[in-house]
Amino acid sequence: MLKKIAGIILLFSFLVSFSGFAQDAGEPQGGQTSAQTAPAPNEGGAPPAATEPRPREPAPSEIIVYITKTGEKYHRGTCRYLAKSKIETTLESAKRNYDPCSVCRPPQ
Ligand SMILES: [Zn+2]
Repeated sequence: MLKKIAGIILLFSFLVSFSGFAQDAGEPQGGQTSAQTAPAPNEGGAPPAATEPRPREPAPSEIIVYITKTGEKYHRGTCRYLAKSKIETTLESAKRNYDPCSVCRPPQ
């Protein structure tokens, strides 16, 4: 008789532990949703090589600009002020006696 009771208790405890285990296994997995913050951009890193290609600027004696008979400015070849007269000269010499036109903005 005692053996039977002990067996029932054993079976009962087994069932309880089993059902408890099943409950734990069936729980939805929570607490794992802490979003990971994206790593901060590496601002202390080495800057990108700033080697922008710079075309060689032509010397003022190589740049052709245009002056007019009466004007006090020098111009690019496409400037509308050159409609009446268009005298080719170099930037080097034009700069001595003329100001750059504010309309066509020739090289200075
Ligand atoms: Zn002009």
